[in-house]
Amino acid sequence: MSSGARTGQRRAAPRPGKRPDVLRTRPGLPAAPDAYDRAPAVALWLASLGLGLVVGIQLATRSPLSGPGALPTELGRWCALLGTYAAMLVVLLVARIPALERSVGLDRMVAYHRRLGPAVILLIAAHVLLVTIGYAMSESVSFLGESWTFLSTYSWLLPAFAGFALMVMAGVTSWRVARRRMKYETWWVTHLYLYLAIALAYMHQISVGQQFVTHPWARWIWIGLYVITFGALLVFRVGLPLYRSLHHDLRIHAVVRESPDTVSVWISGRGLDALAVRGGQFFGWRFLTPQMWWESHPYSLSAGPDPRYLRITVKDLGDHSRSLARLRPGTRVVAEGPYGVFTADARHGERVVLLAGGVGITPIRAVLDDLPADVRTDLLYRAPKTQALILHKELEAIAAKRSALRVRYLVGNRRDYPIDARTLIYLVPDIQSADIYVCGPESFIHAVREAGHVLGVPAHKVHHEAFSFHSPDTYELGSGKVVR
Ligand SMILES: Cc1cc2nc3c(=O)[nH]c(=O)nc-3n(C[C@H](O)[C@H](O)[C@H](O)COP(=O)(O)OP(=O)(O)OC[C@H]3O[C@@H](n4cnc5c(N)ncnc54)[C@H](O)[C@@H]3O)c2cc1C
Repeated sequence: MSSGARTGQRRAAPRPGKRPDVLRTRPGLPAAPDAYDRAPAVALWLASLGLGLVVGIQLATRSPLSGPGALPTELGRWCALLGTYAAMLVVLLVARIPALERSVGLDRMVAYHRRLGPAVILLIAAHVLLVTIGYAMSESVSFLGESWTFLSTYSWLLPAFAGFALMVMAGVTSWRVARRRMKYETWWVTHLYLYLAIALAYMHQISVGQQFVTHPWARWIWIGLYVITFGALLVFRVGLPLYRSLHHDLRIHAVVRESPDTVSVWISGRGLDALAVRGGQFFGWRFLTPQMWWESHPYSLSAGPDPRYLRITVKDLGDHSRSLARLRPGTRVVAEGPYGVFTADARHGERVVLLAGGVGITPIRAVLDDLPADVRTDLLYRAPKTQALILHKELEAIAAKRSALRVRYLVGNRRDYPIDARTLIYLVPDIQSADIYVCGPESFIHAVREAGHVLGVPAHKVHHEAFSFHSPDTYELGSGKVVR
């Protein structure tokens, strides 16, 4: 296939040339209400209740302090309780609680997790500093002298301090600049220490924490909050994926080469429709071979749900994605999920534009399977060269059977096909009334969202799935700038 835009009927669409100037025609579309359903509201309500409990514990257990150091000690104790409670929320945000995951989406939950994380470290750091200053002032000793007394005589304070150091390390390595310089696996292992950090701090809280030592009811509430937090983590991140993968007997069925650097992996299983997976969703995949069992990587389904098979299509981008080609039929698979809200039912209308960049075609291909055949759909598939167009035979086969679907390939470099408002409105004149689905490299997603913004497509009608662990939490549209 030579470069140029092509339709399902293999006729190259002319390059965007003389295009009408339509930038000012913004439809006055009302902003659709936020898709806020019960789960997030209940979660917010429970989190507020928890916060009320924590504040209640501090108010009910505080002993009136007087004399030098009283205020810093009091503030230090507030920081300890609020910081630890925030740490529990940070863990719950990535515990993959299905109801929340389905309504909010993993990428947003992770974004909230990333935003709340620094507050935990700041509050715990303030606790360490303020309590040490407070006690040093009340005992008229130096800050270092008091620190040594704490670490050498108070039970569980040395492990707690080690926990604090691990928390700071995990925090610093999660800082975006640092994260970009680390291999995902290295970052992931470092991040695991956060759980150890929280566990190490736990014992000094209930064994020397003024709120808990003399108030058993407060101690039991505190233990209860820990049990709920780590219970949710174990159930939804370990128990449920293991149970489901064994119950559905997930195994490698076949590995099919799609292109020189891309393979499709077919996973067989029993009664997979019970997984209630939607086209466009992804799983965290763990392949139980001696080399790969320890790491889980996210890959989207590249075909809609099927009671017998799940399919992923993966581009060789590094050691894990490369090793998929060597998977043997029969190998057991643990699938964590399904995750993601990049699905056909996220749309707001019956006009859809699908934009795929490179391997970003995988969830788009799966969304197609869930989209009703009469929904008028344009699929624009961007690739640098024809060989990079994977799954195109399937797309054409679907287009041949579905008159409401038009598939066009934008093969060439960015100069040939600049992804901007002009190009999109030229290729799809009524794009302003459509739901836009975009998946691909970060810059591609940003360009499409920027174009949607310029064309006045409401933000809630632009759905994106970023294949990147580094993707920014938010895009500042209109500025061309990526925030954070
Ligand atoms: C929601 C989602 C869906 C995805 N779907 C697909 C798909 O359908 N097909 C496909 O080819 N790729 C997909 N990816 C990308 C895929 O997860 C990475 O390419 C893969 O994990 C790379 O791992 P590696 O060891 O081969 O390469 P590495 O060299 O380790 O990493 C290559 C790049 O992938 C990122 N990465 C590595 N591990 C992870 C991880 N566990 N989570 C997130 N990012 C990671 C790294 O930050 C780096 O930018 C998806 C990513 C996400 C977040």
